Amino acid sequence: MTTLAIYNPATGTQITQVPADGAASVAAKFQAARAAQPAWAATPLPQRLACVARFRAAVVAELEALAATMTAETGKPISMSRNELNGLLGRIDFFLTEAEASTATQTVFTDGGMTEQIQHIPLGVVANISAWNYPWFVGCNVILPALLTGNAVLYKPSEFATLTGMAIARLLHAAGVPADVLALCVGGGEVGAALQTQRIDGLFFTGSYTTGAKITQALGPRMVKLQLELGGKDPTYVCDDANPATAAASLADGAMYNTGQSCCSVERIYVHEKVFDAFVAAFVDTVHGFKVGDPMADDTYIGAITRAAQLDVLDAQVADAVAKGAKLLTGGTRLPGNTFAPTVLVDVGHSMDLMREESFGPVIGIQKVASDTEAVALMNDTRYGLTAGVFTPDEARARAVLAQVNAGSVYWNCCDRVSPRLPWSGHGDSGVGLTLSTYGIQTFTRTKAWHLRQV
Ligand code: NAD
Repeated sequence: MTTLAIYNPATGTQITQVPADGAASVAAKFQAARAAQPAWAATPLPQRLACVARFRAAVVAELEALAATMTAETGKPISMSRNELNGLLGRIDFFLTEAEASTATQTVFTDGGMTEQIQHIPLGVVANISAWNYPWFVGCNVILPALLTGNAVLYKPSEFATLTGMAIARLLHAAGVPADVLALCVGGGEVGAALQTQRIDGLFFTGSYTTGAKITQALGPRMVKLQLELGGKDPTYVCDDANPATAAASLADGAMYNTGQSCCSVERIYVHEKVFDAFVAAFVDTVHGFKVGDPMADDTYIGAITRAAQLDVLDAQVADAVAKGAKLLTGGTRLPGNTFAPTVLVDVGHSMDLMREESFGPVIGIQKVASDTEAVALMNDTRYGLTAGVFTPDEARARAVLAQVNAGSVYWNCCDRVSPRLPWSGHGDSGVGLTLSTYGIQTFTRTKAWHLRQV
């Protein structure tokens, strides 16, 4: 049998080996899911809701162990692993509260003998191919609403967060979801590729643009519902009337939380020239306060880079920026434990990869601007469009700036924030489709339009 070795990125040591899937086992799991899905869809919604509520209780009961597992295999600082699991509880509560109303059959027209209704029916068997950086969030954003709306799910966690994926499946099965209705597929890209060749009814992907583009090419001719949540190069603009110290503290956290490995990390900062120096000084001060080190230590803020290859990307972005005239204010080097020193560069510009390509690490460029118009033009000078923010006390000014920015989520005086009540989506190369909000429940259904004439 094939196995997958699981490593601790902070120490480089092997944690364990787990059985992995191959093309034959993926095909068998798909067939079993296809056979099991109708009975799951026919299970009354209160029973499906009860399974998810029991899953929530199990997450609470095992929270500390689940956090330790996630930290061991991803290098995420342990306090942030706990935060992710606690944050998940709010998302589960949202799904539990909204699943019924958001997919109830609606009567939208009655006139004489004529009635029109919209019904939501499950897609069928869907695949979830997932990333490692917030494995509970990105896994459950798909798995839970898909199950609640009556789908069977083939779930492939990232090969860099497989133990967490196994825990998600174990707890859902213990909570009453049949094994064939939520089937775990373990492995790397080859298992993801095997999944997409099955006769699935939907594919929900979270990961890089590069992989998302390959999946799109493969599925294009097949009329399979496809959602892609991809990367970003998320900008924030600090206006001349913003408090530079407050903005700097918030944005340093937005750029470096989770070791900068968040899809919505702040990746580019534009600061009005009037507050630039004060902002940069406060930003660097904040960064110097971030403790780098052992991800298992309670006070660690910067943990390991999960995929070692990303260290080369960070090295290259810093070198390219410095070669093109950027000034390195702090960091710029690798540290023991597969991590990268929190890094701040100024005198940056859009000729540099640092300001154009996703960094996905604790590295940030801060660029001076002279006006809102210049800031908006730079914010939109990207192929991505996940989130964007502005810091100013003036709401009208913030709304005017954010209305012009191409992004799925926009922030006024905040950043790096996701709400279960709001749709999570990307513009441009940040993806297509959405999760979360009531739309992110409906997205796991297809609509059936009923035209009913009484005779
Ligand atoms: P990745 O694209 O390398 O891998 C994602 C998943 O795809 C993994 O499970 C992987 O095994 C699988 N995969 C790889 N090749 C495949 C193939 N040919 N066919 C099918 N599946 C394949 O991305 P990653 O390193 O896991 O995640 C980091 C990226 O994810 C970043 O770009 C980040 O911005 C993005 N992300 C986006 C969001 C969002 O909500 N928009 C959330 C989290 C992460």
